[in-house]
Amino acid sequence: MSSAVRVTIWNEFLQEREDEAVRRVYPEGIHKALEQGLRDYPGFMIRTATLGDPDQGLADAVLEDTDVLIWWGHKAHAAVTDETTARVQRHVLSGMGLIVLHSGHWAKVFKALLGTHCSLRWREAGERERIWNLAPSHPITQGVDDYFEIDQEEMYGERFDVPEPDQLIFVSWFQGGEVFRSGCVWERGHGRIFYFRPGHETYPTYYHRDVLRVIANAARWAKAPVRMDDACAMSEPLETLPPPVSGTEEE
Ligand code: ZN
Repeated sequence: MSSAVRVTIWNEFLQEREDEAVRRVYPEGIHKALEQGLRDYPGFMIRTATLGDPDQGLADAVLEDTDVLIWWGHKAHAAVTDETTARVQRHVLSGMGLIVLHSGHWAKVFKALLGTHCSLRWREAGERERIWNLAPSHPITQGVDDYFEIDQEEMYGERFDVPEPDQLIFVSWFQGGEVFRSGCVWERGHGRIFYFRPGHETYPTYYHRDVLRVIANAARWAKAPVRMDDACAMSEPLETLPPPVSGTEEE
């Protein structure tokens, strides 16, 4: 059995087909750009899946064969069915890693796992983003400097309505003055979740060296050492127990 990390990159794959401004940046789709970018990093077996595939690209067989799912969605969150959402949630709880990118903060899967609104402020003004590395000893930040910059990005600002992260990995500063918790990790069940903010569909963010490095690091980190389904089993005692005390005999 291979020890490679089996990664599935899922994309709703809508705007790249319908919007010329998006197609110009990601002609084959964001999932293909990410797949190409991760090819520079060893140790992955990568497949891609899209909303238009059978079972919305996320059949049980696909998820069982996935160590880490990378999620891109924006316009079609509502088209992801409750069945698909429940399936992905169940696999994360069993130990499948999940990396949610940018506008995936609004995905049903992300909201189901975190249990909050996951709302934020936003502005499309092509401003500069400076992403500060708050956790230099964390596996996700290896090879990343104290900070890196993206010349043009959409602004995401606080307050980001998510549960307190288990650890805050990155915080972003934007030219317009806002800050944002851009890299957060949580555990849900046996599954590891990483939210990573960069990546608006009309900017070439997913060709950025540091952005790809972070996603590759996160994909390695998010592979859980176990995969366990839920079970509420009746448990036999390990030792001989004294007979149960019967109720009082006399009143
Ligand atoms: Zn965006």
